[in-house]
Amino acid sequence: MEIAPGIHSIPVEKGSFMGFFAPNVYLVVDKSHGALIDSGYSDEESISARIDYIKTVQPDLRYIMLTHTHPDHIGGAVKIGGGTGAEIILHSAEIGQATIPVHKAVEDGDSLLLNGIKLEVIHTPGHSPGHICIYIKEQRVLFSGDHILGTGTTAMRPPDGDMAIYINSLRKLLNYDIATIYPGHGPPIREAKRKIEELIQHRLEREEQVIAGLRQGKATVKELVDEIYPELDSRLHFAAEGQILAHLIKLEREGKASCLRKGEDTHYTIN
Ligand SMILES: [Zn+2]
Repeated sequence: MEIAPGIHSIPVEKGSFMGFFAPNVYLVVDKSHGALIDSGYSDEESISARIDYIKTVQPDLRYIMLTHTHPDHIGGAVKIGGGTGAEIILHSAEIGQATIPVHKAVEDGDSLLLNGIKLEVIHTPGHSPGHICIYIKEQRVLFSGDHILGTGTTAMRPPDGDMAIYINSLRKLLNYDIATIYPGHGPPIREAKRKIEELIQHRLEREEQVIAGLRQGKATVKELVDEIYPELDSRLHFAAEGQILAHLIKLEREGKASCLRKGEDTHYTIN
């Protein structure tokens, strides 16, 4: 369905996705061309539905811009590319992790042009090293992939996930005039600046909790997760451990914490 002038959201079935919201696939069109932002799962049925949708709205698909290489974002790219002739686009820092052929690598600040629409690449590493957001200045619209989600917080699993870099990438977005964020999962975000500031604040508060836990003598990721998320659903433990580990690595790198033992039983202390 068309969610803003020239911007369509194509429904993607939930498939094997384990989170709460299935991935969003967006189609940006002008009078003569189209660009897809992320491509959803790779299953035959939902891909044919996406190709049919694209062909109805704008058959001349030029680009498939992938925010990053996680399977719920790139799964359909090759088949949709083959079915439409579109070029697959990815940031250069993400190419090494790509399991699909890529036609063109982009860098921060690059732009791809449809006739009347400029799609600007903003490199936003953190969730993954070559994660990009795509910005349309004229419409004050940002497609945020997994950098910013419609609901909840972005998964951060080291070594690909990096908390310090992630927070810097959130701060970077405050330099852009954004009215609406279309995230990789969940509903659109209308108060973009406030949302970005809240996300930064949330991470810094979590970091304070990690520091407080370390001061109380909690030393492992598991002890900190139990302390910080006491009522956590067991299915979310893996995700929470990633977040806490990412905070610990940030603190260690900044000289605020030390990592005492490597290997299976890694202990941390506050400096
Ligand atoms: Zn992801």
